[in-house]
Amino acid sequence: MAETESRSGTEVPARAVGLHRAYGRGGGAVQALRGVSVELAAGTFTAVMGPSGSGKTTLLHCLAGMDRPTRGAVWWGGTEVSRLPERRLAPLRRSRVGFVFQAFNLMPAMTVAQNVELPGRLAGAPPERALVREALARVGLAGRERHRPGQLSGGQQQRVAIARALVSRPRVLFADEPTGALDRATGHEVLSLLRAGVDREGQTCVMVTHDPVAAAYADRVLLLADGLLVDELARPTPAGVADRLARLGG
Ligand code: ADP
Ligand code: MG
Repeated sequence: MAETESRSGTEVPARAVGLHRAYGRGGGAVQALRGVSVELAAGTFTAVMGPSGSGKTTLLHCLAGMDRPTRGAVWWGGTEVSRLPERRLAPLRRSRVGFVFQAFNLMPAMTVAQNVELPGRLAGAPPERALVREALARVGLAGRERHRPGQLSGGQQQRVAIARALVSRPRVLFADEPTGALDRATGHEVLSLLRAGVDREGQTCVMVTHDPVAAAYADRVLLLADGLLVDELARPTPAGVADRLARLGG
């Protein structure tokens, strides 16, 4: 596998080839993905849009190794992760992938620093203090280590969740509607942070959003409809995205 990576020169951090994902069997089965292929090039910011139920979350979960396709493959660099047994996938996922959710998913009784440490601690490898401090500094929360999530604004709480996702230095940061619970101004804090990670640190980022303004922070927009990739917009603008969505009828 290392050979594939060196031969191609540049490694693609995450790639899906012909992804199908069905939930349930027989007549009642739901086809959440019906043959989706995407490539997340290093240092790019991708937005995924589409009507509710079009398969956006399923696509992110499959790309992040949190769900398994029924058919097709997911690759991280030269490793076909969709074939790995869970005991090999789990440690790889912890080191390669960060995930941010709409609902922050912070532990209210823990401090900010403890929240950032938690995934590593659960995995038996807590990050060093200095790395936790550095991750919090990167999201503009230096000095907030001992605060509880309830003492922070919504935008700050989502930044803690981003620090938690970034502390393991993942190759790809996945975010599923990260600004869905935030107002415009605090959403902007979070989106600027994701954008800065891509521009300054070469982070690869993919984000689901319903908001054309949020999508315009990305380098391109992938449009899903009914489990299929139906369009791709490069260098999106809010007006261009809104117009395309309106034509999709979503
Ligand atoms: P989106 O994120 O675009 O709203 P999802 O990926 O969550 O869409 O869902 C795509 C389709 O798959 C929907 O019809 C949804 O109801 C179905 N689905 C998603 N997860 C499950 C599940 N765990 N069990 C059954 N159906 C599911
Ligand atoms: Mg979703």
